[in-house]
Amino acid sequence: PSVVPQHAAATATHCPYCALQCAMTLTPAAGRAVPVEVAPRDFPTNRGGLCKKGWTSAELLGGAGRLTAPLVRGADGRFTETGWDEALDLVARGIRRTRLEHGADAVGVFGGGGLTNEKAYLLGKFARIAVGTSRIDYNGRFCMSSAAAAGSRAFGLDRGLPFPVEDLDGASTILLLGTNVAETMPPFAGHLAGAQSAGGLIVVDPRRTPTARLAGDGAGLHVQPTPGSDLALLLGITHVVFAEGLVDEGYLAARTSGARGLRRSVAAWWPERTASVTGVPAATIRAVARRLASRPAGDAGTAGRPAGGTYILTGRGVEQHIDGTDTATAAINLALALGLPGTPGSGYGTLTGQGNGQGGREHGQKADQLPGYRKITDPAARAHLAAVWGVPEASIPGPGVPAVELLASLGRPGGVRTLLVHGSNLVVSAPNAASVRSGLGRLDLLVVCDFFLSETAALADVVLPVRQWAEEEGTMTSLEGRVIRRLRAVAAPDGVRDELQILAELARRLDAPSAWPDEPRAVFEELRLASEGGIADYSGIDYGLLDAGEAAHWPYPRGSTGTPRLFADRFAHPDGLARIVSVARHPHPEREAAAARLTLVTGRLLEHYQSGAQTRRVAELRDAQPVARITLHPATAEAHGIADGDPIELGNDRGRVRGLASLSTDIRPDTLFAPFHYPGDETANLVTSDAVDPVSSMPEFKTAAVTVRRIIVE
Ligand code: SF4
Repeated sequence: PSVVPQHAAATATHCPYCALQCAMTLTPAAGRAVPVEVAPRDFPTNRGGLCKKGWTSAELLGGAGRLTAPLVRGADGRFTETGWDEALDLVARGIRRTRLEHGADAVGVFGGGGLTNEKAYLLGKFARIAVGTSRIDYNGRFCMSSAAAAGSRAFGLDRGLPFPVEDLDGASTILLLGTNVAETMPPFAGHLAGAQSAGGLIVVDPRRTPTARLAGDGAGLHVQPTPGSDLALLLGITHVVFAEGLVDEGYLAARTSGARGLRRSVAAWWPERTASVTGVPAATIRAVARRLASRPAGDAGTAGRPAGGTYILTGRGVEQHIDGTDTATAAINLALALGLPGTPGSGYGTLTGQGNGQGGREHGQKADQLPGYRKITDPAARAHLAAVWGVPEASIPGPGVPAVELLASLGRPGGVRTLLVHGSNLVVSAPNAASVRSGLGRLDLLVVCDFFLSETAALADVVLPVRQWAEEEGTMTSLEGRVIRRLRAVAAPDGVRDELQILAELARRLDAPSAWPDEPRAVFEELRLASEGGIADYSGIDYGLLDAGEAAHWPYPRGSTGTPRLFADRFAHPDGLARIVSVARHPHPEREAAAARLTLVTGRLLEHYQSGAQTRRVAELRDAQPVARITLHPATAEAHGIADGDPIELGNDRGRVRGLASLSTDIRPDTLFAPFHYPGDETANLVTSDAVDPVSSMPEFKTAAVTVRRIIVE
């Protein structure tokens, strides 16, 4: 049972959207369509700030457009509202039939990085134990899987920020690579102020974003490379670090392995050559390297860098590429060469995007992982989970396939024929969206759990209406690996169920072994056991501790007090050393095609979140950004006969996307920008590529070769 009564006088909780997980208070607003009022609450990540999305988040609770009964598609193709027993029986029958006729791996489960830890955990257990399928993956594969793979490879552990966000306040230099925090998570930008005023904010982005302006308008630097050339840029900066003797040799010797190959791997990336690939002047490349290695005047400089140090942070702009893991690795290598990770006041991190993007990848939603961030192929991990779940180890399936491969198999021979989707709007958010839509249409059974009729839910055979953030209990894990409580502030509409209840009910109907708790606290207690001894160990955390306001950063083994700062003495590999994996840049057909045409990059707007399934339903946000506006340089527009505000179409052999032209000198003439929040023919992912990074299976979202034309309106 909930520890917080519904309609409490005020509920201290967190924003439903991004990974900053800004703290807010929800106060009942009796008699209004929107049942609570939002007020910001002081918390280390947001320090009393909220962005527009947070301020308006309560509107999602107003009931407009909510699904309040299961929907089942009839023979006439229309949805009919039905009872829960009927809907769950139908889903269970469909799973059984698919398993019988095609095997358990013909049932797929697709999760999301916005689900609570409890739901992410139970979904992984449900797929593997109740259904018996290996085919589970989630939308985090599209989000930061490459950075996660690079972090695991280098450090033996992937926690987005291995230090609390407030540590950034003391930095004199921060290098931001491919992240537009001033627009995507505005309260975060406050943590850049120290580096900004010290003239040490460096932003790498092909666009002059609001974040780039923070650097470019001050004494910092905005570096505007050719899209897709980030790996070359990082190799070039690292070359200068070696060439100019800026390397922290003592750190490399004491704390890393593989350093010898690094110098060789960057030897050919002298600044002038790097400039020819990236379009960034050689002098700028040298200036970035020197600034990263500099120490502010007055810094005593003990071992490594104390407060006033340097941070390197990556985001989706450099990670969502076919070489995303190697690009994130190049950023890590640069940080290691400078002696930053684990050094007080300095570090490397990646900025998680989705609300529970961090926790979502720790508890078993990934195709290759079991709870506790354990490898599914590790015999000890399998034995541990078999004991916690009370099942034979052999009954836990092996590794499945990553998201793009899973989606490509939909309805194909040997592929997935029944798919359950939780917390994802695939037809807007997946790459090469038209092919995903076709795949969903080939399924025998598509089941979607959502609180609104998203574009993906609209294609389903069965839609199950579920609770959303302020109607549910649970935990989330923020971008700094801090586990926080999500508390119930309002009652869900009648007819809506918690996904935990749905999974437990389906497990019962499938005669699944093991216990199936359906209350968040009980699920979390099981999650603690499941994670114990793993990389992401939550065993020392309980709801009481979180409700008391304790800062709980994992790993938090039983009897410990958590780990706000990682890597101070050792990295997580058995020998305690960070691995330097030398990387190289390889040709990429899409980039070569883009060089001959135009390059489309995609990203977020301040007003919208992910596929927009939530924010497009909030009047203030929708009215501020009602349609997709595609940014292009005035010179590019003129060359194509396009004026500001014209309807335009981008195209390639994957599809076409439409929007209104928005002319701006903030973008390079060879580059276009489209937000990825819009449905229908404004879906930017209609033209993005589903080619994937070989290490992480991250799709190539950020470099799509396109043509552009003005649409003639008859
Ligand atoms: Fe904070 Fe992100 Fe919510 Fe905005 S969307 S209020 S930055 S958690």
